[in-house]
Amino acid sequence: MKKILRIQRAPAPHWVGNGFHVNSLFFYAQDAQTFSPFLMLDYGAPRVFPPSTEPRGVGQHPHRGFETVTVAYQGEIEHHDSEGNRGVIGPGDVQWMTAASGIIHEEWLSPAFNAKGGTLEMAQLWVNLPAKDKMAAPRYQEILKAQIPSVTAPGGARVQVIAGEFNGGESGAPSRGPAMTFSPVNVWDVQLNAGQAIDLDLHAGYTTLFAVLKGKVNVNTSQDVASPAVVVLERDGTAARLEAAGGDATVLVLHGEPLDEPVAGYGPFVMNTRDEIMQAMQDFQRGTFIRQRATA
Ligand code: MN
Repeated sequence: MKKILRIQRAPAPHWVGNGFHVNSLFFYAQDAQTFSPFLMLDYGAPRVFPPSTEPRGVGQHPHRGFETVTVAYQGEIEHHDSEGNRGVIGPGDVQWMTAASGIIHEEWLSPAFNAKGGTLEMAQLWVNLPAKDKMAAPRYQEILKAQIPSVTAPGGARVQVIAGEFNGGESGAPSRGPAMTFSPVNVWDVQLNAGQAIDLDLHAGYTTLFAVLKGKVNVNTSQDVASPAVVVLERDGTAARLEAAGGDATVLVLHGEPLDEPVAGYGPFVMNTRDEIMQAMQDFQRGTFIRQRATA
């Protein structure tokens, strides 16, 4: 068993722009090496937005050196960026954006959803890039729910395999998530109904984070954890167990090979050195940050 290193409760939620009311479950500035290759996870619990004609979200802002992964659980989120990518993701869809050398994007509630109003529930994960890929070309992967393997584990838990490989489905065959990644990264969305449990087959040496988004779970038959919180497991060991403790529960499992490289970050830039951060700021100020402008 991978032992529990610590459990951290999320602080009170805060607004990102005027569209995303999120709990920050972890942030690299706190302890970059422990979370590596993951940098941040924000979770927006279900929240009703009344109909509006005012755009709601976050306007143009840059990113460099990492990837932003947006999961829509309820509602619709629209994205457009300086590479000319544009997309709307809805329930169960994922947008995996590689900022790498530099991207400027906007994130909004989709105009249709904003006009009609409704419940928004979402998460945004930041995944770090290996030093050698930080200045690679940006990339945009729109991953629809239908492309994401939905695996039933013995005992009935459902696992959406967004990235990486999941072993532990009823069929016994491994399932591969559609997201292309730069380093070994697993992202599994685990849905446990009341009374269900799942035994996870994990890698020794990997970072393992259980982000408890909804409900309450028992971890390793030892510790109850209520949402919103993140459980940090030790690198040693190859197994862990999640069990719904009460009603239904949702856990985002983040399981990846640590990058073991220095992390220097400032706002929307995450690089390896302070000089690279200064360079990013200078490039942004000079208008040389992105490789091309959107034609729109
Ligand atoms: Mn962003």
